[in-house]
Amino acid sequence: MTRQPGDGDARKTVPLVVAYAVDQLPHFDIQWFEKARSRLTKIDTVTANPRDAATFRVDAGNFFRIVSTDAPQVGDLNLWNARNFQERFFSGKTRQLHATHLTTGDRLWSTFPSFRPMATISHDTLDWYGWDEDGGGVHDVIGTRCDPYTQKTLGGDDYHHCCHSNLTRAFSRATGMTISDAELHVHDVLNVFMCTGFTADTHQYFMKASPVRPGDFLEFFAEIDLLGALSACPGGDCGSSHSGDDAECSPLVIEVFEPHQDDLANWHRFAPNGYDQTHGLP
Ligand SMILES: [Zn+2]
Repeated sequence: MTRQPGDGDARKTVPLVVAYAVDQLPHFDIQWFEKARSRLTKIDTVTANPRDAATFRVDAGNFFRIVSTDAPQVGDLNLWNARNFQERFFSGKTRQLHATHLTTGDRLWSTFPSFRPMATISHDTLDWYGWDEDGGGVHDVIGTRCDPYTQKTLGGDDYHHCCHSNLTRAFSRATGMTISDAELHVHDVLNVFMCTGFTADTHQYFMKASPVRPGDFLEFFAEIDLLGALSACPGGDCGSSHSGDDAECSPLVIEVFEPHQDDLANWHRFAPNGYDQTHGLP
């Protein structure tokens, strides 16, 4: 290891700066959201079966919930603009703008060049969890999804029911794309109900059994027309393993709700980002 220079301590103790001026982000008006969600009518219910994924559609202005129904279970969520699959959930930038783990008031931002909120988290029954003594939290955007390639690289078998493959099959079914075309649209996820963090000593990604219990839900407001896909992770509560058939695995339910239209007064729709995309060329 390289020896620390004489001014090493001084270089390490400069003040940190929060990287983005998040006070400039669109304001989460909790009163507006509480009014909007006060009179909801359920219009669709979809089940993601264990070790599989399901797709669902949500029109802009409607809500959807991911609900724990049977036993503690983690879900991997993908979102696309239902009218243009090139616009999809941008986990990395969402993490930079909000935090490593999301909760009520955070937005799910879309990829460049549209780059706008696709959905807003309007209710989280696990918001009490906060940060535990290991530095863990729930609903992370730090992990990606479990996948057969990493499994193979780490010496495992060909395993076909990782979240990556589940999402790929579901997207293929929903769109009619071939499995190889569909795979290119699957992207980094929001790890719904998953409890994760980085170890304090080596900063390695860890997971622990999800605190979710039947009846818990994470609720979103669709800011644009959405196609979603949710995988019921083969890791179950992700308290021991994933990418295999060892863990107890349970379904997850997606419920779609329509609010009373009077309760959406003054709803501000987000236009695609205004950058001119010339990137410095005339
Ligand atoms: Zn998974």
